Amino acid sequence: MQWGRRRFLTVAGAAAALIPCGGALASAAERRTLKFVHTHTGEKLSACYVAGGSYQSQCLLQVNRFLRDFRTGDIHPIDPALLDVLYDLQVAANRDDTFEVISAYRSPRTNSQLRSQSSGVAEHSLHIEGKAIDIRLTGVPTTKVRDLALSLRRGGVGYYASSDFVHVDTGRVRSW
Ligand SMILES: [Zn+2]
Repeated sequence: MQWGRRRFLTVAGAAAALIPCGGALASAAERRTLKFVHTHTGEKLSACYVAGGSYQSQCLLQVNRFLRDFRTGDIHPIDPALLDVLYDLQVAANRDDTFEVISAYRSPRTNSQLRSQSSGVAEHSLHIEGKAIDIRLTGVPTTKVRDLALSLRRGGVGYYASSDFVHVDTGRVRSW
């Protein structure tokens, strides 16, 4: 009798413990995953950067490393709000697809080097602060990515037709 009751409680406890894991629908709204491929390094990353409604610090460290200055290897924190912009962009596009990264963090050295080569690089680029990224979204025309980014009104949006990418940042709402 005593054993039977203990056994019953153990089974019931095990079942209850499964509920948070099995309740995928309940937790789905609190998970945010982004998939990346880096066009320069060839590296790929699938990053679940929000779980249970919280930013995941270990994942953000992986993201910082992935989005490093690929020219110098310098790593800088990436603004999590920038990841939220990408996530909302992906939701707006109705695509659970891969972001192709052209450029993310840029060290001051890389930025001044790029500035000397091109008139289109800002001196106080938000790339230096880890608050900007140049991307494509696989399967979505870049003009559509631009229009969706503009509709979010969450920061700067730049469209680079000749190189076929969109710049998004978490600075003031503006466009070029
Ligand atoms: Zn940019």
